[in-house]
Amino acid sequence: MTVLVAGGGITGLASAYALGKAGIPTLLVEGSRRLGGKIRTEEVDGFVIEHGPDSFVSYRPAGMALIRELGLGDAIIRPEEPRIVFIRAGGRFRRFPDGMGLVLPTKFRPFLTSDLFSPLAKARMGLDLLLPRDGTEGDVAVGPFLRRRLGNALVDRLAGPLIGGVYGTPIDELSLDAVVPQLRESERRHRSLLLAALADARARRHVAATAGSPASVAPPSPFVTLAGGTQQLVDALVDAIRAMPHVGIRTDCLLEGLEIEGSRVRVRFCGGERMAPEATILATPARLTGDLVEAGAPQAAASIRSIPHGATAVVNLAYSDDQLPADLAGHGFLVAGDEPLTISAATLSSRKWAGRAPEGTLLVRAFIGDGRSGTHDLTDAQLVRAAHLDVKGTLGIRGEPILTRSSRFPAAMP
Ligand SMILES: Cc1cc2nc3c(=O)[nH]c(=O)nc-3n(C[C@H](O)[C@H](O)[C@H](O)COP(=O)(O)OP(=O)(O)OC[C@H]3O[C@@H](n4cnc5c(N)ncnc54)[C@H](O)[C@@H]3O)c2cc1C
Repeated sequence: MTVLVAGGGITGLASAYALGKAGIPTLLVEGSRRLGGKIRTEEVDGFVIEHGPDSFVSYRPAGMALIRELGLGDAIIRPEEPRIVFIRAGGRFRRFPDGMGLVLPTKFRPFLTSDLFSPLAKARMGLDLLLPRDGTEGDVAVGPFLRRRLGNALVDRLAGPLIGGVYGTPIDELSLDAVVPQLRESERRHRSLLLAALADARARRHVAATAGSPASVAPPSPFVTLAGGTQQLVDALVDAIRAMPHVGIRTDCLLEGLEIEGSRVRVRFCGGERMAPEATILATPARLTGDLVEAGAPQAAASIRSIPHGATAVVNLAYSDDQLPADLAGHGFLVAGDEPLTISAATLSSRKWAGRAPEGTLLVRAFIGDGRSGTHDLTDAQLVRAAHLDVKGTLGIRGEPILTRSSRFPAAMP
């Protein structure tokens, strides 16, 4: 049996690796010259620059297991402490309350004293303690689910910038089951999300006490990365696959067409070569996948194409320490939806992760997501300028960046 995998991003590489481990002859074809797809880390002048993703979520066990299996367990790094993040709202920075899980407080005092929410908004969140479960069958969107339980302020000022920012898509359009299934599970088990967050904190305290470690209830960061950047995972996967004699990788080799006849598929690739694999895995972006299956499976093509995708851009900016204000703190900030800024978030990458920039410099990663009007028409230079002006204006940085990089991802975030 031979399997053809089209697409050499993380999905295609992980598929080829799993097939190879099972002893199944496999050919992976990647249309471009490089492997990794959206994952790309560039090392330049001592900076480790992430063009696309910069971290993995540790609560998805498969990704973490793969990293460890490939021998990269020692390269896993967690955000530097203290993990201070700000929200830019109402024209100023407000501290992300201490002890927050993804969007729920596990400590009440910092939450109650936070200036991120008005007293009325905090009282509205308390209603969650009384509300019954959402009886809706099937999936719902994250935004409405959280709005019902905790009110609009939590969504607009915190959950929206945070979760919507990660996916580059408005939170009111994101699937709860796909994005944060743990919230649905919390509601199912505890009814109230606040009670669920407190129960989780109690459980962590109990585990810490029985293990004899300090009784911290701060949830661990859900994000981890690798010392050499996310590309390290791609490189390790490629090395592992290349060591398998029954798995081939061909780059600069596009899957050009598929003919689907019943359960058989014939493929055309690499400038006209043909084969009839036993199975084909399309690990290509959804819209291209739709085009590939159009002729043989028009219904599938239509439903794949109907998945909405958000566009996003990442701008990396480096500054030297003498350009920075003395009181620059934290790992970065998220921008509330109604702020008049082009960027939707900025991470102080070299403060968040160890080893991202040479001594005496700061690496900032700014995001420009969908919904920031007019950014599609900007040239790369204008995009960098817009990001720099927002970063400079909000953080109080002086002068021009010493290094810039920008990457655009049209229709990239399902
Ligand atoms: C800016 C940004 C930041 C992100 N940050 C994070 C993050 O921090 N953490 C996280 O977990 N996720 C993050 N994501 C999401 C994550 O990057 C993607 O989910 C993931 O990289 C998708 O991998 P993939 O292999 O499915 O697709 P891709 O990486 O898009 O790979 C698809 C591959 O298919 C190839 N291809 C296309 N057509 C053909 C063809 N006809 N024949 C052969 N090959 C073809 C392409 O060249 C490409 O290499 C981010 C995404 C973006 C855009």
